[in-house]
Amino acid sequence: MALIDLYGRKHDYLRISVTDRCNLRCIYCMGPEGVKQIPHHQILTYEEILEVVKAGAALGISKIRLTGGEPLVRKGILFLVKEIAQVPGITCLAMTTNGILLPQFAAPLKEAGLQRVNISLDSLKPAVYRKITRCGELAQALAGIEAALEAGLNPVKINIVLMKRINHREVPAFLKLALEKELHLRFIEYMPIGAQGLEHHKYYLPLSYVKEQAARMGLPLTPAEPPPGAGPAETFSLPGGKGTIGLIHPISRHFCASCNRLRLTAEGYLKSCLYWQDERSVRPALGDPVAMQELLQDVVRLKPEKHRMSPQQKPGLLNLQGMRGMSKIGG
Ligand code: SAM
Ligand code: SF4
Repeated sequence: MALIDLYGRKHDYLRISVTDRCNLRCIYCMGPEGVKQIPHHQILTYEEILEVVKAGAALGISKIRLTGGEPLVRKGILFLVKEIAQVPGITCLAMTTNGILLPQFAAPLKEAGLQRVNISLDSLKPAVYRKITRCGELAQALAGIEAALEAGLNPVKINIVLMKRINHREVPAFLKLALEKELHLRFIEYMPIGAQGLEHHKYYLPLSYVKEQAARMGLPLTPAEPPPGAGPAETFSLPGGKGTIGLIHPISRHFCASCNRLRLTAEGYLKSCLYWQDERSVRPALGDPVAMQELLQDVVRLKPEKHRMSPQQKPGLLNLQGMRGMSKIGG
């Protein structure tokens, strides 16, 4: 049986947040003090995560993305990658990471069965990168990107959250990067999630800005074949460019109608939508594969037709404070 919701959408993609902890403190994701960490005993063990993956695979989940927090700060992550890669039915295994630890992990991750990686890189200037991440070294993230390319992780995608007055002036530099390197750059609209959502109105900029900048540079964006696993990104090529440009507009042009994703939080809550507070704990179903499959079906039935994020998002309109932050859901 497949995971089909009330609106006919088939779900084959599960994003798993393996930890809420992180070695950075990005301004759009968490406060300067970081997040109130979930105690270790409340985090799903790798064996428990695998139970959810196996139940999902039996119902047609074929793609898994490991995320966080920062997935590479969780001890033993290679074990989880290796185990998930062997689950029958899982044909695509990817990770979203800030890349800081990739110089040491890229090759072993590839060997363990990871296929693809998305690396967050919101600036090409050391001081701006530090301002956004509050403590990160740009050189380390860039070394992580090189390590991923060298290890043969493919494709390597770069996630850039576009922010007014923070990094919007760097769009031309990012476009040049996609001209020169075989990297798939994806600009993402700032989403109002968790307490950081209260800052949303200050920073939000629609991605039409990227198209305008490309046109100004005489580099028209031409619709192109998306790299594998491009999901909802609109993909473009640049004349003579080695890489591609993706635009992910969760807000100005949401892609709810084709959403195929479920999310598992580090504490073990299954969510049918990033922006929907109704969720179910997997704990009652642990140890019972049939109950786990039923739970997955229930969660899919909870999925709303569409989310309520909008560019006019008013702080206080939604319970942003009470909502899990991005680092707990995994983006
Ligand atoms: N630590 C890893 C990283 O930064 O890539 C994985 C977790 S992070 C929560 C996953 C993705 O969510 C990142 O690409 C990050 O840029 C994105 N993200 C976090 N907060 C966001 C927000 N408010 N709006 C848009 N994207 C956001
Ligand atoms: Fe950490 Fe990723 Fe959130 Fe940045 S976006 S604070 S790297 S979890």
